[in-house]
Amino acid sequence: MPDIRWHILTIGHLSRNKFWGESDDQAYRAPLCTSTLIQVDDRTIVVDPSCADSEMVRVLAQRTGLKPEAVDTVFLTHFHGDHRVGLTAFPNARWRMAAADIASWTAQVAPGSPEQELLLRLEPVTNELASGITLLPTPGHSTAHTSLVFTSGGLRVVVAGDAVMTRDFFAARDVYFNTVDRVAAVQSIAAIAEMADIVVPGHDNYFLNRRRAEHERGGTGG
Ligand SMILES: [Zn+2]
Repeated sequence: MPDIRWHILTIGHLSRNKFWGESDDQAYRAPLCTSTLIQVDDRTIVVDPSCADSEMVRVLAQRTGLKPEAVDTVFLTHFHGDHRVGLTAFPNARWRMAAADIASWTAQVAPGSPEQELLLRLEPVTNELASGITLLPTPGHSTAHTSLVFTSGGLRVVVAGDAVMTRDFFAARDVYFNTVDRVAAVQSIAAIAEMADIVVPGHDNYFLNRRRAEHERGGTGG
């Protein structure tokens, strides 16, 4: 089994959070997504680069001691703008997204738009991003949203992107206001809850999936 290390680069937050009593009808702050760095063998991968280029470079150095050139791959869980703010901080990396996600967004964007140009640059990936790092289709937040799964230190980690917005959304098995398919999104949360020991949500710090932990200790669950 490959030795996989991972680091949170930025802890995200939402522009509006109903679990804090906020309305879905207005933005209270600029959003920031949770950005994660994963290392396996000689591969270094950034998932969902969250902040503008210079800040991204500063955060990378501060959190990992790495320069942008050390990053060979950037993976996007989906194409929402707040999950690709810092893409251009890694000009020499391969920019990748799930093949189904690229196809889905390509059908939605305007021909000749900057979004279409960016989608043409993104390289499709299916099944496995790197040794031991597999794709988990988690549709609902967007049509073909895709999470990553790997085992590190004996624990199964799911980098969920916006399939899980925050710890509170996960605990309530609830979805964000801009979800395109609520039924699929709730099923995706359930699938993550089934398999994850640790969840890295799209807009919060990582957390232990206690239901699973309790279940495996022989508790009654529920
Ligand atoms: Zn999103």
